[in-house]
Amino acid sequence: MKTWDAIIVGGGIIGLSLGLALRRKALQVLIVERGEPGREASHAAAGMLAGSGGEIAPPLTTLTGESARLYPQFVHELQDESGINVDLRDHGTILVSSRPDFPASAEPLSAQQLHALEPSLGLEEAKPAAGPETAFAFLGERSVDPRALVGAALNAARHLQIDISSGTEVQSVLVSEGRAVGIRTDKTSYLSEVVVNCAGAWAGSFRPYSFPVRPVKGQMLAVVRGPALRHVVRAESVYLVPRTDGRLLIGSTLEDAGFNKQTDVNTIQKLLHDAVELVPAVASSKQHEAWAGLRPGTPDGLPILGETATAGYFVATGHFREGILLAPITAALMTELILRRPSSLDLARFSPLRFFQATG
Ligand SMILES: Cc1cc2nc3c(=O)[nH]c(=O)nc-3n(C[C@H](O)[C@H](O)[C@H](O)COP(=O)(O)OP(=O)(O)OC[C@H]3O[C@@H](n4cnc5c(N)ncnc54)[C@H](O)[C@@H]3O)c2cc1C
Repeated sequence: MKTWDAIIVGGGIIGLSLGLALRRKALQVLIVERGEPGREASHAAAGMLAGSGGEIAPPLTTLTGESARLYPQFVHELQDESGINVDLRDHGTILVSSRPDFPASAEPLSAQQLHALEPSLGLEEAKPAAGPETAFAFLGERSVDPRALVGAALNAARHLQIDISSGTEVQSVLVSEGRAVGIRTDKTSYLSEVVVNCAGAWAGSFRPYSFPVRPVKGQMLAVVRGPALRHVVRAESVYLVPRTDGRLLIGSTLEDAGFNKQTDVNTIQKLLHDAVELVPAVASSKQHEAWAGLRPGTPDGLPILGETATAGYFVATGHFREGILLAPITAALMTELILRRPSSLDLARFSPLRFFQATG
């Protein structure tokens, strides 16, 4: 029976990026995906590479900062191996806030500077929406098109001869004498001494471990023929992410709605309304698409990265709102762990074992 050096459960951006990193180290890799690769959270994301925003929990900033630094090289390799442009944009983000609590790396903007950077985001227009104390700052962040990114990763995976089994649901990790030996799917079994759970919001739904990952729904919409924004614009209630192809993405919600991925008209209207308050020219755009995705959330807001108590069974999930950004660093760190090399960053805070402490 055929065996692989590593089996990855889940073909989202995390599983695909890790599969590619392992394959580049000459491992034989199988990715097992329940549906079609890259059609869940990674398809729904806005693609902000927001590594230094004030919302990010401190233990995570080392990972986000390092991953942001790796991004240009990560994209360069993917584009090279796939022939797909992933729209990595380098224009930066304009932060809009009613509280003067911008991250230290943000540069406050005067009304004139704001107007020069982004004429359709006038101070006078934006102030009524965000309140009289509204302030603006510039942050040197990038953005990417996550759908193009997963498309490129999938193409690159095929190009590098990674095996991909789509439409195959993993039901359990096979364990023998305390070690992982493969996986059981709805159809058959596949053998490997390394199994990595990259199943996103569903990572806790197959044996032997119920990782406490929960789906956090996010609804978004895209408009076309709206204002030609150059920058990502991020306020408290809404963000706008321009794409080079003319789409403008508007997001998003944070909802505890189980595995329901439906959008509702009121929520989409509210997002659009908030976007118009911030950038009035959005009012003349045409709605193009609305969708929802499920972010993998964890109880402490940190990802789960590391080996479980079952030798050879690893997990890389719980990336919540930062999974697109964290894909390069996750792939690099998990590759070190799987190859039993010293880790270049301390991963103790992210260990899966934190959820399975012995009691009494
Ligand atoms: C609206 C929204 C906006 C976002 N914006 C951003 C952003 O701007 N920047 C950012 O960095 N991040 C953003 N995110 C977060 C980001 O999308 C996620 O953190 C990231 O996509 C997680 O990737 P993943 O591969 O872990 O999960 P997924 O992409 O969900 O992939 C998991 C895969 O595992 C498969 N799977 C599950 N169970 C099984 C099983 N039993 N057997 C086989 N396969 C299985 C699923 O079908 C799925 O394809 C956003 C998310 C949402 C929803």
